[in-house]
Amino acid sequence: MSIPYQADTPVDPHRSWMMSRVKGKNTKPEIAVRSMLHGMGLRFTVNGPLNRTLPGKPDIVLPKYHTVVFVHGCFWHAHPGCKDFRIPKTRREWWESKLYGNRKRDLKHQADLLERGWTVRVVWTCQLRNQVAIRELAATLKDWFSDPEPELRVAETPAPYSVNPD
Ligand SMILES: [Zn+2]
Repeated sequence: MSIPYQADTPVDPHRSWMMSRVKGKNTKPEIAVRSMLHGMGLRFTVNGPLNRTLPGKPDIVLPKYHTVVFVHGCFWHAHPGCKDFRIPKTRREWWESKLYGNRKRDLKHQADLLERGWTVRVVWTCQLRNQVAIRELAATLKDWFSDPEPELRVAETPAPYSVNPD
């Protein structure tokens, strides 16, 4: 699996935000994660009814594992402690409320999914920024799907770049 992805913070985040509203699904990181799962021989849906109706509209649903996978951009979903997540200096308050609001909503969706008996996995896009991270992600995915009844109902990829230079 070698699909490197440059997870840059947008130069003009507001403009990117507007564009991301238009762009929708099928981002590069999502496609990369799908192809890794596919390579592991796993069956999943990306456009099925569950993708549209479950809380948070999960990017990937694996019915057999009763598991959903979210592929979260570190900036937009406010990855805690990640260097790809920094509140922009201009319009700071607006950004804080926007991005921390996204984070809060994500956690609410996770709780709702758990309540409905789903297992939740979150892949952060910093996990796709170079080959070392991608290898680590592949191991994490194997780990996640080796146990059909995992003890850990919510898990996310670790942030390899957790030191924020600011
Ligand atoms: Zn991150």
